[in-house]
Amino acid sequence: MSHIVGHFIGGKTVYDAASVQDVYNPSTGAVARQVALAGKATVEAAVAAAQAAFPEWRKTPVLKRARIMFRYKELLEQNRDKICALIGEEHGKIVHDAAGELQRGIENVEFACAAPEMLKGEYSKNVGPEIDSWSDFQPLGVVAGITPFNFPAMVPLWMFPLAIVCGNTFVLKPSERDPSVCLLLAQLMQEAGLPDGVLNVVNGGREAVDTLLADPRVQAVSFVGSTPVAKYVYATATANGKRCQAMGGAKNHAVVLPDADLDNVVNSLLGAAFGSSGERCMALSVAVAVGGETADRMVAGIKAGMRHLKTGPFSDAANHFGPLITAAHKAKVEDYIAGAQAQGAEIVVDGRNPSVLAGYENGFYLGATLIDRVTPDMVSYREEIFGPVLQVVRVDTMQEAMDLIDGHIYGNGTCIYTRDGEAARYFADRVSAGMVGINIPLPVPVAYHSFGGWKQSMFGDLGTYGPDGTRFYTRRKTVTQRWPTAEVREGAVFAMPVLG
Ligand code: NAD
Repeated sequence: MSHIVGHFIGGKTVYDAASVQDVYNPSTGAVARQVALAGKATVEAAVAAAQAAFPEWRKTPVLKRARIMFRYKELLEQNRDKICALIGEEHGKIVHDAAGELQRGIENVEFACAAPEMLKGEYSKNVGPEIDSWSDFQPLGVVAGITPFNFPAMVPLWMFPLAIVCGNTFVLKPSERDPSVCLLLAQLMQEAGLPDGVLNVVNGGREAVDTLLADPRVQAVSFVGSTPVAKYVYATATANGKRCQAMGGAKNHAVVLPDADLDNVVNSLLGAAFGSSGERCMALSVAVAVGGETADRMVAGIKAGMRHLKTGPFSDAANHFGPLITAAHKAKVEDYIAGAQAQGAEIVVDGRNPSVLAGYENGFYLGATLIDRVTPDMVSYREEIFGPVLQVVRVDTMQEAMDLIDGHIYGNGTCIYTRDGEAARYFADRVSAGMVGINIPLPVPVAYHSFGGWKQSMFGDLGTYGPDGTRFYTRRKTVTQRWPTAEVREGAVFAMPVLG
């Protein structure tokens, strides 16, 4: 055990004496270090630091704010290996996957560099006699971000660069299961020239979250995590008068039509179901095959492809995916597999008890698992598993497949595999999910679009990052102005003013 991970408040690393929690290296199963869990006073100190930094930061010209983001992008690139190693060590993600995560995060910093253009506002001259009107997009003040374990770099980077470049100050509460990356991200922001107090990081669990949700100085909360917690955060934040967006869990269906290119389907599903051990909110965890023959061929192809999959420690780039985040989470995923079996599904490939490299026997490994003949009443179908488990549901028509998606409580992402443009267009237009792929397995929108699911995958009106993120982190102010001239001088007017 090397050290305790602290907090970053007002530009300094501080430690909280309240309590600590173990942080594991999931590849070995050993405790890597501990994380300090912030108590109320520490969280309030972080909010106070953010509040104190706000007046200066708000009036810093947007071009200067954007230049810090340009430097930040370079620093993230220069520190790529260090960041990816930390992600791997605490999350278990294989180095190539961690590099992809970081790159997606950097793209959000690149988007933030465009703030001078994004915040230009709207202007209308002569909306009335000698009257001009314009809309500004002003920062909110102190914004809090609460993030999940599965993307310890990318999801925080969805939030704070954009919030900060818009003129807000920020308190980030990362997942306590892999907390170190965020501290490094914050230190690099300081190195890029960000004034102290503009970005603060508090590590912790529920007490830290509750303190942020209750603090009247916090104006807005951006949350990403599981649906039960998203619901709670959204309900509490909005009841306390805060703006809130809360992204939740998922169950993403891939619909495979009989005319699909099956080689492409198999390769796509292998990566999208088992990549990152299935611990992605956009993982394709259900394949819905239309027609028995499609299902048989697809299952045979996936089964054959799975023979080559390797799970193992994060540091070996030859592995396809790494361990799960904790022993408890691994046990939960195994329970879903056992539950599906007990409810009558067919375990085609069983990943339980995988063989692992000598020296890594205590890591939280679960092999890729394929389950066929899953039905909508099964618990493993209704709930999010968040593990390397692909379930196959067999249906007769595309409409049945769409009805399944419509009937599910989650509506994050979905994908259709077909060569039929008409079918794909119909599907994309009518399906009830926020992000749709057409022959694309992980349709995570690029940084200059926005991310957000439907139904219980998102609470709030605006998606995260991109144009929606810019709106979320700013509020419109519309000014209407006239400088009375000799020509235009009105007396008292009692009717609603209109343009005659
Ligand atoms: P989680 O909900 O357990 O934790 C998320 C955050 O909430 C963490 O910072 C955690 O400390 C905090 N938290 C946990 N329990 C809390 C409680 N009772 N009260 C207050 N705060 C609490 O989620 P996780 O396991 O870290 O992440 C995985 C989940 O996140 C999955 O459900 C996944 O689908 C979802 N996710 C969604 C998206 C998306 O954009 N929709 C992206 C990534 C992950």
